[in-house]
Order: sequence, then structure tokens, then C-alpha cells
Amino acid sequence: MPNPVTVLSLLVEELNNGRVKVVDLTQPLGPETPVIDLPPIFAPSPPLTVEVISRYDEKGPAWYWNTLHLGEHTGTHFDAPVHWITGKDRANNTTDTLPPRQFVGPACVIDVSKEVAEFEDFLLTRDHVLAWEGEHGKILAGAWVLLRSDWSKRQGSEAFLNAKADGPHSPGWTADCLRFLANERDVLGVGVETVGTDAGQAGGFDPPFPAHSIMHGAGKLGLASLSNLDQLPPTGAVVIAAPLKIVNGSGSPVRVLALVPA
Ligand code: MN
Repeated sequence: MPNPVTVLSLLVEELNNGRVKVVDLTQPLGPETPVIDLPPIFAPSPPLTVEVISRYDEKGPAWYWNTLHLGEHTGTHFDAPVHWITGKDRANNTTDTLPPRQFVGPACVIDVSKEVAEFEDFLLTRDHVLAWEGEHGKILAGAWVLLRSDWSKRQGSEAFLNAKADGPHSPGWTADCLRFLANERDVLGVGVETVGTDAGQAGGFDPPFPAHSIMHGAGKLGLASLSNLDQLPPTGAVVIAAPLKIVNGSGSPVRVLALVPA
């Protein structure tokens, strides 16, 4: 007797025949991976260092493995609600306690690459979101909202972090836009191509760092340093982003995948 056709058997068939593609939204993670720069009064997050334990040598003749040292928020990574003080008292707010259902969700991709090419401090507003919804439909509850800026195409740490005398410059969101997404659309979280979910200048916003403050205060998630968002349709992709199950973790490097209709 043939196995019954289910949505999952169809998914496997579509993956096999190429009608559903797997797109990798992850940056390579290595010692050169850029890490957010904080003002020197705050503790810095270290970049990745890799130390070989053994590599088919006297320390381990048949095996290769490494020790990693890195901040939780290094490279393409996941922000859990406990990362910010506004989310510290929420239930199930850490990488080991978040419900795994939250690691799979549909993606709404808002393309602002042209605007960002013109103005690197571009901020997405509620009106931009409403205009996007006019074209693509209302953002569903539980959806990732991904800001396509093409920032991930910048080569090298200096261009990617884009620090100037007055601090870093990179695109993001207004506080009003984030309140709208969190409260009126009940999104899963926001994802960006930049080093963190907030705009470069967001330390001076009201509230400071609104993507962290507002989203995590509402129990929402963050994804930073994404790439290949230019390979996603505005709607119709499903994102899989599961952080390491670090006990009491505030976030973790993550391999972010999107299932995309070809
Ligand atoms: Mn982070």
C-alpha cells in the first residue's frame, strides 16, 4: 500500500524535484566575522577565536576538532527576549526555554535596498510597512519581518560596521514602526542584514535601541547579519532559525535557512 500523501511528503517531493529551494541566509562564521562595536565604557563582545584540539596528530591521531570562543551575538545570530532588560522577566525568554514552534515561521521581506543605497541611515516607518502591505497583503501574526537592505554585500569589516566619528551608520527601523509590528501585527520578530537589529545610530533614539527594547519587551525575536535576502520573495518563504540550546542563553550563532518556492 502506498504511503498517504501528506503536506510533509509533498514538501519532500518538492525539495527533491527542485520546486522548493533551500536558501542559506547565513554569513560564514570565522575569526574575521565582524562583531558589533560598543562605546569603550561597555564590555566588548569578543570575535570568534578557534583553537585546534587535535587534527590527525599526536593529540588525536584519527580525529579533528576545535575549541571555539565567541560572544553569543557573533555573526549571523539569534536574539532571544532575555537579551534586553525589557524582556528579562518574560516567561520562556532564553535560548533553552523558547518554544521550538518559534523557530519556524513565514517570512515577509521588505526590500529597501534602493533607499539604503541612497541613504545609509535609512529607517523603515509604519507608513513603509503599510505601503508594503498594500502591495503584498497584511503581515500575518507569527511572521518574521526581514529588512532587505543588501548591506550583507558590503565587503570587509570596516564597510560592514561603517563606524564614523559619531558612531556607526547603518539602516534600521523607527520605534513607531517596531511598536506597530510588535503590537498591531504580532510578528515573530525582525531580521536584518546589519550587525545588529537596530540602526547604527539607534543608541540616540527614543527609546535607545528600539528594535531591542520594543521587540524583546514584547517577547519578540531578532535575527542579525543575515545574507541572501535578495533571493527571497516578498512573501511565501518559510524561515527556519533555531538557536543553540544554551542554558540561560541570550542568543546564539545560528544557521538560518529559508524554504523558497522556485
Ligand atoms: Mn544580537
